[in-house]
Amino acid sequence: MQLYKDQELKIYNSLTGQKEVFKPINDGHIGMYVCGPTVYSNVHLGNVRTFMSFDVIFRYLRHLGYKVRYVRNITDAGHLENDADVGEDKITKKARLEQIEPMEVVQRYTVDFHNILNTLNFLPPSIEPTATGHIIEQIELINNIIDNGFAYEVNGSVYFDVHKFDETNEYGKLSKRKLEDLIHNTRELDGQSDKKNPQDFALWKKAEPQHIMRWPSPWGDGFPGWHLECTAMSTKYLGETFDIHGGGMDLKFPHHECEIAQNEAAIGKSPVNYWMHANMLELNGQRMSKSTGNTINPHELLSGDNDKMSKAYSPSVIRFFMAQSSYRSVLDLTDAGLLASEKGYNRLMEAMGLISNLKASGSSSININEWLLKCYDAMNDDFNTPILIANLFEGAKYINQVKEGSEMLTSDDITLLESSLNTFAFDVLGLLKDAEVQSGGDKLAGAVDVLIKLRQEARANKDFALSDQIRDELAEVGIVLKDGKDGTTFTVN
Ligand SMILES: [Zn+2]
Repeated sequence: MQLYKDQELKIYNSLTGQKEVFKPINDGHIGMYVCGPTVYSNVHLGNVRTFMSFDVIFRYLRHLGYKVRYVRNITDAGHLENDADVGEDKITKKARLEQIEPMEVVQRYTVDFHNILNTLNFLPPSIEPTATGHIIEQIELINNIIDNGFAYEVNGSVYFDVHKFDETNEYGKLSKRKLEDLIHNTRELDGQSDKKNPQDFALWKKAEPQHIMRWPSPWGDGFPGWHLECTAMSTKYLGETFDIHGGGMDLKFPHHECEIAQNEAAIGKSPVNYWMHANMLELNGQRMSKSTGNTINPHELLSGDNDKMSKAYSPSVIRFFMAQSSYRSVLDLTDAGLLASEKGYNRLMEAMGLISNLKASGSSSININEWLLKCYDAMNDDFNTPILIANLFEGAKYINQVKEGSEMLTSDDITLLESSLNTFAFDVLGLLKDAEVQSGGDKLAGAVDVLIKLRQEARANKDFALSDQIRDELAEVGIVLKDGKDGTTFTVN
């Protein structure tokens, strides 16, 4: 279904700093590129947040009926420890420390990355290309940039000439930086002497004799600069200009800025129409950092094997927690926040578990179509998942109200409410029906019905003390009984 024809989706474009009406280059099709992980260690929970934001975006775009080609790369070479093109390649360093092959490092952490994402119910991207699989394309790109006069070779390395580029183009337009400010703020680091200017960045680095990951090139044996792979792979699979480019906020500069410069220098075109950046994840109000010990990895969060959280959290609760905040806000991961999300998630699932047993009426006292529009409005407003979730809770409230008899829905409206809740909770937000919750709704209803029967028997026997005790003790655990003409119903608060 081409739902997108009836929807006006707005996306916050980091390039313009504004929410813009989304118009794809090719009607009905979307090309989306998201910078993937550098696979030299277990995936960072902050990166999981970024990828989850784009997973929900991917899911919603697909739900709207777009054919989305989603490319998310794997960086398996060329990412140096330091953004100033100095230091070791992260993967080579890990291989040296662990005395294994660099490709063993890549394999180990790629598998780990996929396992975590599978556990958290991510949809796989359409294409997941690797930097090492696209060396030829990267060399070709460098040749184009040199031919166009925006790069120079020194001692077997090739650098992008940022100053030359800035004469005709605008370096820094995405991160709102000016070259003169960068010049003013850049410190000279040792080992940078090959560059004409410290702001220049490496397109190709000469491999020292001990460097294992190396490829032949017109400039001698070496390896590509980190920024280059994304330009080569996005262009190859999505075209010279494509719709959406995403990544973490920390990649805006220099990584994405350099991607724009490379594209414009090589092809003369701006690569991306909508730049999207997911914000950072903090832990207990502070930046996550291994050096301060303020860190938790996805395995530890899922298993409960950590000293930061009181318990293990399920993939759905983690997804629900992350979706309760906009992808553009800083998100603070705390035990209290996760506990609250767990309660909220359970409440939503329990209500959804009751819907198939609702009694239909001849007319509806609630406008379900209007409610559904609000769900779409939330997602069309730059994928506002917290507002969507507020609306899903509103839907859960309707279920409880109809169950207790204070509102009415026709059978068509019950069906629409059920299918819409399923669509947004499972297809769009990617929540799973956790086994305990899935059967929990039905089991809870069954158990409460048993207690309601016992209470009726107590009342029939004029044992009002027992009847009140059943009612009061249920109320204490949040289950409220309500006596009506057609018998007793209950709501879960
Ligand atoms: Zn990238």
